[in-house]
Amino acid sequence: MKAVVIHAPHDLRIEEIAPAPAPGPGEVRVAIARGGICGSDLHYYHEGGFGAVRIREPMALGHEVSGIVAGLGAGVRGLSVGDKVALNPSRPCGECEYCRRDMRNQCLDMRFNGSAMRMPHEQGLFRAEVTLPAGQAVRLSPETDLALAALCEPFAVCLHAVGQGGALLGRRVLISGSGPIGCLAVAAARLAGAAEIVVTDIAAPPLRIAAAMGATRCIDLSAEAAALEVEKTGKGRIDVVFECSGAAPALRTACEVVRPGGQVITVGLGSEPQFPLSLVVSKEIRLAGSFRFDHEFALAADLIDRGRVDLSPVLTGVFPMEDAIAAFDFASDKAKAMKVQLRFGGD
Ligand code: ZN
Repeated sequence: MKAVVIHAPHDLRIEEIAPAPAPGPGEVRVAIARGGICGSDLHYYHEGGFGAVRIREPMALGHEVSGIVAGLGAGVRGLSVGDKVALNPSRPCGECEYCRRDMRNQCLDMRFNGSAMRMPHEQGLFRAEVTLPAGQAVRLSPETDLALAALCEPFAVCLHAVGQGGALLGRRVLISGSGPIGCLAVAAARLAGAAEIVVTDIAAPPLRIAAAMGATRCIDLSAEAAALEVEKTGKGRIDVVFECSGAAPALRTACEVVRPGGQVITVGLGSEPQFPLSLVVSKEIRLAGSFRFDHEFALAADLIDRGRVDLSPVLTGVFPMEDAIAAFDFASDKAKAMKVQLRFGGD
């Protein structure tokens, strides 16, 4: 069967690998239907990794996938062959200090599909079929669109971030960075009852998608840099900022627009920005990071499954998996692409 495997920067191959093994006890085999290309997949593709994480052996990419159950091992309950499922790529150990403290996203022995953090690497899910613990498969309704189901993982990231921001009901929110995470964060903030959602970016096309997701105001900082000045007046007017861009100046801007006692939640990873310590101290800003997700994956699946959110505006392209290289190149063009998915034929 075929898989999308990264060997080195710009050496992405669609190659034949051994079939997914027959599912053992407690395992499930899933025919992959759709797989979304994430920013981290693009970092592996262009740079061979990010930070200290580097590809040291061939690795199938992908951790945002949906599919159809193709086989069940002994003892698996609640799933049947033919069920649509979303696959949770994270497999915390369940035993370490942080798993026991209900902080599984901080697991000391995390296995995360499509990550080169461990050696051997945890293989990704851009494969025609995968066999994995049944606990990673979340059952969906027969009518759920498998393209939307493949958004569970990035949407879970946004639900976790919104959870870090506390109650958003009636709040004024700013989301900096209108990539897939920023746009999905708009949906999460809306769901949480935010009264106003301002989104900033440095390009117009992604902001049009943020608007379609329900942003109340979109500001293209490359064209109207002064438009955010009003939010800095009176020590800042925004209750909660979600920093999703990872851009160097964005953390300072976030601290300038947030009101005293307000919150800045950092989701984006990129450059190491200069830390605006004096603003954080003098305005008593509550600053928190947000990393991956935990129980929010099941919540994301449920919200998508029941049609409580429409995430379809972020889907801007689908390519057959055989054209994965074209898909990765297209996904790298931020002017054209938001969330690009591969189709694996499992639907
Ligand atoms: Zn653990």
